[in-house]
Order: sequence, then C-alpha cells, then structure tokens
Amino acid sequence: MRVVVVGAGIAGLAAAWELTRTGGIDVTVLESERRAGGVIVTEHVERFVVEGGPDGFLAGEPELPELANELGIGDHLVSQGARGTALWTGKALEPIEEGRAAQLLGIDASSAEVKAGFRSFANGMGEPVAALAERLAGTLRFAQGVAGLVRAGSRWHVAITGGSAHDADGVVLALPAYSAGRLLEAVGVAGGRALGEVVYLPSITVSLAYRTDQIGTALTGAGFVVDRNFVGAQHAAPPPNTAPLHLRACTYASQKFPGRAPDGHVLLRAYLPSIDGDPANVAHAELAAILGIRGDPLWSRVFYWNRGLPRYRARHAEHVAAARGRLSRLPPLAIAGAGYDGAGVSACVRSGREAARLIARAMAR
Ligand SMILES: Cc1cc2nc3c(=O)[nH]c(=O)nc-3n(C[C@H](O)[C@H](O)[C@H](O)COP(=O)(O)OP(=O)(O)OC[C@H]3O[C@@H](n4cnc5c(N)ncnc54)[C@H](O)[C@@H]3O)c2cc1C
Repeated sequence: MRVVVVGAGIAGLAAAWELTRTGGIDVTVLESERRAGGVIVTEHVERFVVEGGPDGFLAGEPELPELANELGIGDHLVSQGARGTALWTGKALEPIEEGRAAQLLGIDASSAEVKAGFRSFANGMGEPVAALAERLAGTLRFAQGVAGLVRAGSRWHVAITGGSAHDADGVVLALPAYSAGRLLEAVGVAGGRALGEVVYLPSITVSLAYRTDQIGTALTGAGFVVDRNFVGAQHAAPPPNTAPLHLRACTYASQKFPGRAPDGHVLLRAYLPSIDGDPANVAHAELAAILGIRGDPLWSRVFYWNRGLPRYRARHAEHVAAARGRLSRLPPLAIAGAGYDGAGVSACVRSGREAARLIARAMAR
C-alpha cells in the first residue's frame, strides 16, 4: 500500500511519521520547496539561534513533547525563561496580564494556558523538523510541487509540476488551505473552494542582534505588544519618536528561551505587518526609540510571510467537517494542517497524525 503525503511542513511530516510507524505502508512525501518545515524556519547566525516562524508552543500542549520523545530528542526541550509581557502605550512600557497580551497577539489560547508559559527546543523549533526529516529521509522528495490530483478507480494519481506523477492508494494533503482547496475542487469535492478561502494574513518578522551594552533600557520580561487602538486613542497627534509606528510586537528572544544569543548579546525579534521600505531599518528605528538602543544592530535577518497565519471565518469548523464528510466517500484522502484544526504547531502535529490514522484505517477496510 502506498501513501503520498503532499507538503513537508510540520503537519505533513507528522503525518508521514505516523504512517511509517503504522507498518506495511510505503510513504512518499512531496514538497515543492527544497527544504522541510514549511513555516518553521530556524537559522544559526554566528552563535545566535534565529527563528523565522514559530519560536515555541504552549507548555501545556503534549504533542511536541510526545513527538520529541519518539524522535529521541525529548531532553532537548527547553522552558521559557523570562516571563511577562508589557504594553507599549506610545509613551511607556506597562506590564499587562499575559492572557491579554496573548489576545492582542492573536494567540488562540485561554488565560490559564498562556499562564503556564511556552516551551521550545535548545536549537530552536527547527529541531523536531530536522529530526523528522532525518528519520523520513528515504521518503522525502523535494522540488516536487503537486499540480493536480486525479481519481483513478480506487486509487489516486498525483501529478507533479513539470510532468512526472505518482500513483497512490491514499493521499494526505498537508498544504495551506488555499492550495489544498484547488486540488479538492478539481476532484469534485463540493466545499473544496470554501475551504480554500481561509485567509492567511501577511506578516514580517525581523531578528536583530545587539551587544547588551547597546540597550539603554533594562529589558523586563519576554517582550512587549503594541496596542494600536490604544496608541491611536491616546495620541490624536502621533508622539515624537514613535510615529508612524509599524511595530506590532517585540520578543526579547534571548530572554525568552536559553541559548538564543551568546553571552554579552541580545537578540530581539520584531513583528511587523507588510510595509513599504526595509523592514530591518524600520524595526531597528522603532525599537531604538522604545528601548533606547544606541548604534546599529550587529546584523539583522528578515522573514517575509506573505501568507502567514490563517484566520478562520465564521462557521469554519462546519465547513471543515462538511468537506471531511465528502472526502470519506472517496478513495482514502485526508486534509491536515494549519488551515483546518488550529494554527499552532501542536495543533498541526495532532492534525497530521489524525489524518495519517484516518488514511491507515480507510486503507485497511
Ligand atoms: C510568523 C509566524 C509565527 C508563528 N509563531 C507560532 C508560535 O510561536 N507557536 C505556534 O504554535 N505556532 C506559530 N505559528 C503557526 C505555525 O507555525 C504554523 O501554523 C504551522 O507551522 C503550519 O504548519 P503546516 O504544516 O500546516 O503548514 P506549512 O508550514 O505551511 O507547510 C505546508 C508545506 O506545503 C508545501 N507546499 C505548498 N504547496 C505545495 C504543493 N503544491 N506541492 C507540494 N508542496 C507544497 C509548502 O512549501 C510547505 O512546506 C506561527 C506562524 C507564523 C507565520
């Protein structure tokens, strides 16, 4: 029995991992890029650990620790160090309750969940991706963008951009919903188009490195968020040095998790919406005004997420359930990932594994 997993983000990797552990299933993962991980990107710049996408997961979520234990990297988990978030009011950084900070950041979690803090990996969120990619090395095929899905009797024909193809008894689509929606529509899944309409919001993250002695303000906690409404309400005319304020939030990365920056250095991560101009210059200028930073950053690294975090529409869960109902009438075909069952990394792992189990059950029938 052969299963093709489309997409090697964390959801696709988790699906493939679960399928290989099931036994008796030949798994192939098709990924359009030349690397695994999708939105999860960890880079090592000098002796800094730089996160382009997610930097952690809620400490109460069991999915990543379970996966890490299976992969033999359970002892690489690290817990959040500095706690607490401030609000930039346009004039000052004022401590706020963590649940409120999460809400302002659009993190979908209860106050109690956020209070338990976050966890990550000693070498960043890329660690479980690297461990999965190593274990799945024989199954991963890069630069294999899937362009079409066609039903062939009780099997599937998966067409790759450029002309090649794979036949499979089961398929897991672990793609962003806008890509999966197109494929589902093509195989006649009513509601496929509706799924594909999930909006993925653009954002930019900028990592900036400084020497500790460049930072004029004592960094308290794990970072700050900017309440744009609050700033607007407080200041009919924008205050000097802070306007126009593009910055949405800043994580003090080197305080949040251990090992993110060498001694005597600070790593900051700024979150911006899509903007004109150089995000690194904008982030540095605005952070310099807020945190009293002297001089230029030692280096900066910008990550553009043209379609980053999904935002579900009203009745999203209903649309997803209806589409899954229709998929169950086809040869084994499942959807997984951030577009359906929650955008957090843990939810994506769970979604990938559930899709794999569903396919394995359907093929056993
Ligand atoms: C800036 C940012 C910060 C975040 N921070 C956090 C955080 O701190 N904690 C947290 O829990 N979550 C966070 N998230 C959310 C989380 O990282 C993502 O939702 C999750 O990683 C998505 O995983 P996925 O596998 O569903 O999708 P993706 O990572 O998007 O993977 C999909 C894969 O499919 C591939 N693909 C696309 N089209 C095709 C095709 N036609 N053929 C083959 N392959 C294709 C893509 O190249 C990609 O590799 C963050 C997200 C962003 C953008």
